[in-house]
Amino acid sequence: EEEALIQSEKLSVAGQMAAGIAHEIRNPLTSLIGFSKFLKAKINQYHEYFDIMLVELDRINSIVQEFMALAKPQANQFKRHDLKKIIQNVLTLLETQAILRNVEIVLHAEADEAELLCDENQLKQVFVNVLKNAIEAMPNAGMITINMKLLQPHGFTVEIVDEGVGIPEDQLPKLGGPFFTTKDSGTGLGLMICYRIIEGHHGKMDISSAPGKGTTVTIFLPRNG
Ligand code: ADP
Ligand code: MG
Repeated sequence: EEEALIQSEKLSVAGQMAAGIAHEIRNPLTSLIGFSKFLKAKINQYHEYFDIMLVELDRINSIVQEFMALAKPQANQFKRHDLKKIIQNVLTLLETQAILRNVEIVLHAEADEAELLCDENQLKQVFVNVLKNAIEAMPNAGMITINMKLLQPHGFTVEIVDEGVGIPEDQLPKLGGPFFTTKDSGTGLGLMICYRIIEGHHGKMDISSAPGKGTTVTIFLPRNG
């Protein structure tokens, strides 16, 4: 309970920051990226420095984009959608990335009918973020199992099970906090966005993990948003 409270405080502080800052940074950033590319094309030396600048600018860009996604959930677009279709849609998006890493993704959908009131794009974002983490946790191939179950009478659970590196126990409380990442090119915002979106749907997300064996992310979503 206390942990959940801390989690949602982290969300609101970061959410306010996101709303204020992300837009302000985006425009100057776009011009910095544009002029760096332009100068790299015009100047016949220092290309390795331009490349470093572009990689770093790209990193700032992805942080800003994730922050803008954090700021978005205020404008909810709640409609009836089929949860299974949303997940299948996301799987199509991630197909190439999974194949490149020899990751197989299997979806077991127990419910024939899986309608729920939700913001489709936000839920897609949640599944993209969680599945990307699962793929990134398995550098040398593996399997991701998605179990979608009807939880009578009021909602659905989606379990995303990977066979990746896992998460050490002392890091579990840090998940979803701003900028917590263990990856060289991570932003540490993906899970924070997930928690925020799922909270906006009055759902719940739990992460359990066995280091060296894998991680299970369990998402509960109520039928009526
Ligand atoms: P990022 O992916 O940019 O690092 P996230 O918020 O998506 O940011 O994830 C934060 C951290 O949580 C990751 O850096 C990783 O250490 C850990 N993590 C999340 N999902 C998994 C997973 N499926 N397996 C192992 N570690 C994970
Ligand atoms: Mg991530």
